Amino acid sequence: MIDLSVVIPLYNEEESLPELCDWISRVTTSHGFSYEILLINDGSTDDSWKVIEGICSQNKAIKAVKFNRNYGKSAALDTGFKLANGQVIITMDADMQDSPDEIPELYRMIAEDGLDMVSGWKKKRHDPITKTVPSRFFNATTRMISGIKLHDFNCGLKAYKSDVVKNIKVYGEMHRYIPVIAKWHGFTKIGEKVVEHRKRKYGTTKFGIERFIYGFLDLLSITFVSKFKRRPMHFFGLLGTLSFFFGLLSASWLIWKKLEAIYILKVPVTREVVDQPLFFLALVAIIVGVQLFMAGFIGELLVINKAEKEEYLIIESIGLS
Ligand code: UDP
Ligand code: MG
Repeated sequence: MIDLSVVIPLYNEEESLPELCDWISRVTTSHGFSYEILLINDGSTDDSWKVIEGICSQNKAIKAVKFNRNYGKSAALDTGFKLANGQVIITMDADMQDSPDEIPELYRMIAEDGLDMVSGWKKKRHDPITKTVPSRFFNATTRMISGIKLHDFNCGLKAYKSDVVKNIKVYGEMHRYIPVIAKWHGFTKIGEKVVEHRKRKYGTTKFGIERFIYGFLDLLSITFVSKFKRRPMHFFGLLGTLSFFFGLLSASWLIWKKLEAIYILKVPVTREVVDQPLFFLALVAIIVGVQLFMAGFIGELLVINKAEKEEYLIIESIGLS
């Protein structure tokens, strides 16, 4: 196993790649690391791949893959994680906003301090205010929901222990929540390092303002999924049962009241059951209850299917080879 894998997702970043790879190689070799650089070309439509072919032919430590189309940063990172051979994996944006000079210290924090992952913190940012202000809100919310004390969840510069990247799956747009995903997989030693953030030297940003809307929805779904993905019935089943019994009790009560009025109190004119709002509420509650229960049941079937393929990460054992 080599010391270090540097994973770089890239989408139309032809100008910065040669400079970036040179810089990384310089830093890693001067510190005596054995290393590889994994360039993940996420369906670039410019000449990035040509540039990459040139770089790879000069330095065998640089490897690259190319997607047939643009799948997004999460897919690129996930692929890089699968391919990485290093004991420590460092991810970095391709636009040179992250500085390779941070690599040695990040490596040290994982290899020597024993952290599972270290997230960069762009304390002093060179981004427009339309990005920095929503980002503060986003980080505060994520901090609150996840309980992870990081200032900057979405920093592209991060370092991981090999175990972490081999056991998590980054899908959709979830690259913003890798610390959260890691925590839920039991990797709780998450550190932070203030990193230098530079101006984008070439090209333009690949994410617009919609990142914050999708980002927020993703936070909801990741919270929800992580809590209930192995036991959907606990969520849907519980709500469904409550709703169903509320409906059933309300309907029974209405019927009982009607019977009581007719046969016990002998009231001459009684109110129709269907004239009462509670009746409709009861009806809806029963139907919704059954639907929720069914959703839980179907969810449970999906989970059983997946459970057969699931692997558990055993970190120590005694008496077994
Ligand atoms: N990126 C990618 N696929 C995409 C969008 C972005 O691989 O669909 C890469 C991009 O090339 C860059 C990194 O993800 O290396 C971060 O993107 P960007 O710099 O545009 O984000 P920002 O710094 O504005 O948050
Ligand atoms: Mg950038």
